[in-house]
Formats: sequence, structure tokens, C-alpha cells
Amino acid sequence: MPRSRNKVGAQPGHTGHKRPLAELSDTDKIIECKPQACCSACHHHINVNEQCSRRHQVFDLPKVPLEIIEYQIFHGHCEYCNATYKGELPESAPKAK
Ligand SMILES: [Zn+2]
Repeated sequence: MPRSRNKVGAQPGHTGHKRPLAELSDTDKIIECKPQACCSACHHHINVNEQCSRRHQVFDLPKVPLEIIEYQIFHGHCEYCNATYKGELPESAPKAK
């Protein structure tokens, strides 16, 4: 599907509104947020899930006309004690309202 360049609705720079998630093919950048590599409790390896658990999309306007960055947050669990871990959004990621 070709990406629409039409301006609809929100004013430039106004990112506070909820939007439906964009199709992956429309996303300019995908940042995978994986959990830590080792379990804090027993230091065994964290098996990261193949599917991301949460998708956090940021619609930003740094470039013409619109850049979509998708942060994919993955959950995982320790292969030994099954403790669960999750990736975090980087500090630089704008938070959704
Ligand atoms: Zn563990």
C-alpha cells in the first residue's frame, strides 16, 4: 500500500493524539527493545520471545513530511528459573500520552 502523504487532522508538531497503529510497511524505523541478556536472580540466559509484546509508535515530524518510528518491546524469560523480563523504551523515545 503506498504511503499517504496527505495531511489529515493533527497540526504539525502535535503528537499527543492517539492514533491507530500504522502498518509495518509504513514505518520508517523499527527499534527493538529487548530485555537484559541475563537473569538478575540466577544469571542464566534470558530467552527473548519471538513476538514483541507491545508496540509503541511515535509519529514525529523531524523530516519532511513525517517519520514513523516503531519501538517494539519484547518480553523474555530466564531459561533456568523462568523469571520474566521485558525490554524498555530508550530514554530518547517520546512517550505516548
Ligand atoms: Zn533466572
